[in-house]
Amino acid sequence: MNARTLTGWRWWQVSESGYLSGFHTPYARAEWPSGADVTAVCNQDADSHGPQDAPWPDCECGVRLMPELADLLAGIRNEPERTGITPHVWRVIGGADYYEARRRDGVLYVPDVIGEVVASGRLEDACPWDDPPGTMRAEHARIGTRLYVSQHLWRYAPVLRANYPHARIRVGRRTGLAWLDEIRKTEATTTKKRSKSKPKERTQS
Ligand SMILES: [Zn+2]
Repeated sequence: MNARTLTGWRWWQVSESGYLSGFHTPYARAEWPSGADVTAVCNQDADSHGPQDAPWPDCECGVRLMPELADLLAGIRNEPERTGITPHVWRVIGGADYYEARRRDGVLYVPDVIGEVVASGRLEDACPWDDPPGTMRAEHARIGTRLYVSQHLWRYAPVLRANYPHARIRVGRRTGLAWLDEIRKTEATTTKKRSKSKPKERTQS
């Protein structure tokens, strides 16, 4: 595919120092910078940097994003094995205490942050065996202007705002899967407001 910019949605974990971190190479549990691109690396058949340019067509590499928020929310709700948001995964990456804390907070099936991401460089379609429908894989991506933070991480809101000053941080009012509906409704309202403001601009000009 040709180089272009694509705005979409994805999810992250929050690191202990209040940065967003992702699962996929090379940002598997590493922190995403503010206002700068992350660049995907392919680790297939290689010691470090793969022989293939990420994202590669028949591979799992590339930074994931979903052009449509509805696809991301459906993937989290309906295909946890493919989005990687399962109780098993939390236990493996975080250990027993981390798993237990997430269970108590009712967040075993939701990520820490859902937000806007701006992809650039080469783009590929979803990895057919690894990604829910609607996924794209990008060469570069940076954090967009809207971040929804799960309610159980409300204490992180100030540090997230400091770390990502360009983004509007919104802490969830509802927990678990109900939070997904809250995000959908908030975005629908925001989109409606935006489309309403357009005709007004036209009449003024
Ligand atoms: Zn690859």
